[in-house]
Amino acid sequence: MKYDVVIVGAGPAGTVTARFAAESGAKVLIIERRQEIGVPVLCGEGVSRKIDEWGMLEGKRWIACNMEGARIFSPDGTMVKLSAEMAGNETGYVVYRDIFDQELARQAAKAGAKIVMNTNAIDLLREKDKIIGVKAKQYDDEIEIEADIVVGTDGVESKIGQWAGIDTRLDPKDLETCCQYTLTNIDCKEAYCDFYLGNKIAPGGYIWVFPKGKDVANVGIGVLGNLSEAGMPKKLLDQFIANNPRLKNGNPIRFLAGAVPVANPVETVKDNIILVGDSARQVDPITGGGLTHCLEAGKIAGETIGMAIEQQQFDKETLSSYETGWKEAFGKKLKRNYMVKEIFLDFDDKTLNMLADSLKDIKFDEISTFALVKALVLKHPTLLMKLRPLMKISSEA
Ligand SMILES: Cc1cc2nc3c(=O)[nH]c(=O)nc-3n(C[C@H](O)[C@H](O)[C@H](O)COP(=O)(O)OP(=O)(O)OC[C@H]3O[C@@H](n4cnc5c(N)ncnc54)[C@H](O)[C@@H]3O)c2cc1C
Repeated sequence: MKYDVVIVGAGPAGTVTARFAAESGAKVLIIERRQEIGVPVLCGEGVSRKIDEWGMLEGKRWIACNMEGARIFSPDGTMVKLSAEMAGNETGYVVYRDIFDQELARQAAKAGAKIVMNTNAIDLLREKDKIIGVKAKQYDDEIEIEADIVVGTDGVESKIGQWAGIDTRLDPKDLETCCQYTLTNIDCKEAYCDFYLGNKIAPGGYIWVFPKGKDVANVGIGVLGNLSEAGMPKKLLDQFIANNPRLKNGNPIRFLAGAVPVANPVETVKDNIILVGDSARQVDPITGGGLTHCLEAGKIAGETIGMAIEQQQFDKETLSSYETGWKEAFGKKLKRNYMVKEIFLDFDDKTLNMLADSLKDIKFDEISTFALVKALVLKHPTLLMKLRPLMKISSEA
């Protein structure tokens, strides 16, 4: 088999890259080890409405709920309300992630990409030191797929980067260990994505409640790897649900466990290699949201591949216009949010309560950063010292 590009993994990063590469004239193959795209779902399914601007998804079948905004609860229950526009990567729509992924795959196929399922990449194919494709296991057969460019969109457990010599190791402090129930028989009439913070509630992470209908929601937890131990996320989530009047009578219709990289991104290009999405660690280190970045980076990767095919140049220098492109689009934000995450980790529950108390009555859409800081400090002057590193980051941004 010989293609211009072989893409390993048919998640959103893979199918969006495939679509734009195929639209730019490349001969594209996507291989996917699962039997069905998007299944099982491993996601809270919250996504920013920013995706509307890119017009990559047709119709509305992938939308479960339209969100008005987000509510953040501090450990003592103080609530801060944000509009969907202010709330970042995971608030806007709650989606059906299986349909979402399948719709992106449909667009890739429509553009001319070929998709094969049940095909697991097991190594890179090399000629001397040069990467010339991928070895894969398809059912019981071992196959070789030749390609000028190999794209690693193989998610958080990515092997493509590692095989290509990129350091993709994740420190436990840069990995959220997560689990989630989809609960039914609960009250979800208000269209808000809820986030619950606290060092006892979810050490180094948060609990989320993302409505998928009037009486059904994804209720999940992320705990930072270095603060977690075996079984801890589920135990904390069960405890939270049992003590929450709104959730305690819920019945699970789905349970999942997974991990989210909340690290700094890795090197994303090498000769004949590109990494996109979770494999490249293009995830917001504060919220753990990765979907918008998959779409944004996938488009840039696909267009770069088109350009490389036209020039018949597949070296790191040619492919680096992808790295420059995604860094221009959201690289600064990832870097800043990684620093913010590190600062937030030092906040104890008392500080989180003071912060929420200072912010609870603020109309964020109408207030300047200066007025915001003034309001914070007037209410709880001791916050000033703790917030100084955050203010430094926001003034540099
Ligand atoms: C519990 C949880 C909740 C989350 N909630 C949200 C949320 O609410 N909002 C949000 O924006 N993000 C969320 N995320 C993150 C989001 O799911 C990821 O950022 C996103 O799925 C990354 O897409 P991807 O295409 O890079 O990887 P994936 O979606 O993981 O796709 C990778 C694909 O590669 C395939 N694959 C892997 N290895 C191979 C191989 N060797 N050969 C062939 N195929 C292979 C896999 O089967 C998979 O289909 C959450 C993640 C978790 C775990």
